[in-house]
Amino acid sequence: MRLRERILRVLDSYDHKKIRIATLGSHSALNILRGAKDEGFETICLCKSEDAVIYRNFGVADNIVELESFSDLLKEEVQSFLREKNAILIPHGSFNAYIGKLDKLEVPIFGNRMLMEYEMDREKQREWFLRAGVRVPKVFRSPEEIEGLCIVKYQGAKGGRGYFLVSSYNEFREKVEKMIGMGLVNEDDLKKVEIQEYVLGANVYFSFFYSPVNERIELISVDRRYEHADALGRIPAKEQLKIDIEPTYTVIGNFPIVLRESLLRQAFEAAERIVEVSKEIAYPGMVGPFCVETIFNERAEMVVFEISARIVAGTNVGIPNSPYSYILFGENMYMGRRIARELRIAIEKDMLGEVVY
Ligand code: AMP
Ligand code: AMP
Repeated sequence: MRLRERILRVLDSYDHKKIRIATLGSHSALNILRGAKDEGFETICLCKSEDAVIYRNFGVADNIVELESFSDLLKEEVQSFLREKNAILIPHGSFNAYIGKLDKLEVPIFGNRMLMEYEMDREKQREWFLRAGVRVPKVFRSPEEIEGLCIVKYQGAKGGRGYFLVSSYNEFREKVEKMIGMGLVNEDDLKKVEIQEYVLGANVYFSFFYSPVNERIELISVDRRYEHADALGRIPAKEQLKIDIEPTYTVIGNFPIVLRESLLRQAFEAAERIVEVSKEIAYPGMVGPFCVETIFNERAEMVVFEISARIVAGTNVGIPNSPYSYILFGENMYMGRRIARELRIAIEKDMLGEVVY
């Protein structure tokens, strides 16, 4: 039996009046758990023992399960516990970063787990963009081809860790050694690097929600990242030249953004095409949160450099609402709550099978 059928069978065995919302304790768990509580669900947080203090303190986890490591989620005893509790898992960045492929996870998850895998393979992701006809940064197939300022990136949700800038092959080799020396990357990361044209401009992360229940795309919040490299701007160029600084893109936090209204058109057009193509590449296509990560260049043209088919941590800036979610809903609405609302309506309309994979 295929995984999808096995998941649907698990869902059939659930008591739909007693669905619990579960997630791993990190990344955007507080957002997800608060949202679940706001929509009347009981919650489960699976966290590392040392982080339990966070989830005890906020009081949004009705059950806290302590794990030695996040990969313990795949252990049979943890999975059967979740199934006994009628749990639906909400995936986030830590699922990509610490678990990877979810094909051994036989607990229903909200969203389309096939699309989440696109985040781990930049080449597949690029195909998705190209088919959707969105503007993307130029990619250099090998370090020898590097021309102009480029950013070197790795696969998966690494939060920008160890990314670096180069403008020639020799510099690439030097910096790789340096990044290894600094312990920011390992040989495995380097096997599949992606070298992209560095797009100079303003970073904007659009967090959308595709609702199969309402059949519409909703803009929930917009943010930008607060990254290690942002510290550079605090030092005058004269001083920068004197010291050997290696900025990297490790994310530290996020800021909310409100865009020039006229720029929203580009984001909606791209989101619509990305959702359209998602249906062709991974049936049934996008379900729930996704983030279109962009840079607006000097002509205010939107360049898409990445997509996450799940909740991103940047949506944490949108609690209890963002200007966009407020305009759309007229009430407090944020990504964690939006997910729980979709689940609640899907339960009421007997559509759970269409939002859970
Ligand atoms: P953590 O548990 O904080 O290490 O985060 C889990 C994964 O999500 C890591 O790969 C982080 O790099 C990524 N992550 C966490 N917070 C953010 C954020 N605010 N923006 C982007 N990525 C993040
Ligand atoms: P990512 O892991 O793809 O989300 O990228 C992490 C960070 O690297 C982004 O927030 C940007 O600051 C930066 N970045 C990624 N790709 C590019 C690019 N092509 N041009 C400029 N900056 C980029």
